[in-house]
Amino acid sequence: MIQLENITKRFGSLQVLKGIDFSVNKSEIVSIVGPSGAGKTTLLHIMGTLERPDAGSVVIDSIPIQSLDQKKLSLFRNQHIGFVFQIPQLLPEFSALENVMLPALIAKKNYKTTETEARELLQFLHVEERAQHKPNEMSGGERQRVAIARALINRPSIILADEPSGSLDSKNKEELHRLFFDVRDRFSLTIVIVTHDKEVSALSDRIVTMRDGMIDH
Ligand code: ATP
Repeated sequence: MIQLENITKRFGSLQVLKGIDFSVNKSEIVSIVGPSGAGKTTLLHIMGTLERPDAGSVVIDSIPIQSLDQKKLSLFRNQHIGFVFQIPQLLPEFSALENVMLPALIAKKNYKTTETEARELLQFLHVEERAQHKPNEMSGGERQRVAIARALINRPSIILADEPSGSLDSKNKEELHRLFFDVRDRFSLTIVIVTHDKEVSALSDRIVTMRDGMIDH
């Protein structure tokens, strides 16, 4: 669960977020839409603890983020939040399986257990036959599914996705929509998606519109 209260953020002279109150319930899929420059990605980064707000409170899974120092924050992020970006950020020299395993190995989880879980996730995301392939040997849709598997390996409670269908064709987009629902149902995840894609937002439980650093109510 995510609770934001009176969040403000400024970059130089630009007031990007102007007092945002926003909550997402457990197992809810919420889309954030709105014009370019409205502050959607900045808000997503604040929810993901990648960026600190200038003021306001961020509470994730009942933990007030401002109480965590940098080291605890990284640990918290690694355990609670999975990120999916527009261009899947896979490491080119590693196989799909290794890319999925990496966050768990960084968290010092057991190698064998991690490998089993990574294979199960690749299977769940219908990309198990690509386990030994490098990213440049996969299609865009396959890379995005591997990136989702990687986001899930540490069993986060929240997935934050920034334009996840932005680089996909319509067939792969449709598949991606279904996968987000399958993933939510299977892992009881909370999912927040920043998107310009009407098909993605139409399928979510709730659509939130941002405009000029504020949420339309
Ligand atoms: P888009 O739909 O185009 O991705 P957005 O709604 O996600 O836009 P943001 O990426 O949050 O908008 O950016 C909001 C504003 O803040 C923009 O004017 C952007 O240029 C500015 N901005 C974002 N990040 C930074 C930064 N690190 N430093 C300076 N300005 C920034």
